Amino acid sequence: MRKKIVAGNWKMNLLPEEGKKLTSEIVNMAGDEVPNDVTLVICPPFIHLESVNKLTGDQEKVFLGAQNCHTEDSGAYTGEISVPMLKAVGASYVIIGHSERREYFGETDEFLAKKTDKILSAGMTPIFCCGESLEQREGGNYVSFVTDQISNSLFHLSADEIKKVVIAYEPIWAIGTGLTASPEQAQEMHEAIRKHLAEKYNQEIANSISILYGGSCKPGNAKELFACEDVDGGLIGGASLKSRDFVDIAK
Ligand code: PGA
Repeated sequence: MRKKIVAGNWKMNLLPEEGKKLTSEIVNMAGDEVPNDVTLVICPPFIHLESVNKLTGDQEKVFLGAQNCHTEDSGAYTGEISVPMLKAVGASYVIIGHSERREYFGETDEFLAKKTDKILSAGMTPIFCCGESLEQREGGNYVSFVTDQISNSLFHLSADEIKKVVIAYEPIWAIGTGLTASPEQAQEMHEAIRKHLAEKYNQEIANSISILYGGSCKPGNAKELFACEDVDGGLIGGASLKSRDFVDIAK
């Protein structure tokens, strides 16, 4: 059985007190409202990690994640945060390859391959983002664009390693735009990703990997998206900043 995951990507939002309030609300509601087989992950900006960890540390439903990491453990990388630092403050997940980082910070498939290795060797879980632009979708080559992103950054991993990766399919045209992929569009891509994983590894391994959908996912559309056979949860941006919406999506 694949893990069902709903991860909140706060992006560059919320001051520390706001982050604590939101986390407390989520933890309180999640206990009763979110089914036990669903894992919630909160991915706040770095400065929130310690305070969010204090609020999530004692329970088993809500976990802490980061939005990025560097490939080195320490050194002269001004402004960067390393994987051992994230681990030390309680993070167990790290989002990598978000389209905003690929676009604004020039992150390449090769760099993301190194980040993946670093996160896995620390015993943490990468949430590897992939997704096509509107131009690529309209050009018709969107499936191969996304499966290439996966091959380039993940296919050097062993079978044991790939099983520990979570994949998030986030069509760029749906992120923060209010335009969501239809359940059919999401399922088409998730199925193609799983097939691609099965061809490289095997069907059993492909079946064990959680593939999340991201892009304007909200309480009103989560149910039909998550009902798709190959959609195992979501990576939530805007709606993760409201406790009620985030928990409703997970429900
Ligand atoms: P959104 O963002 O839910 O605001 O569209 C998703 C994401 O970028 O992870």
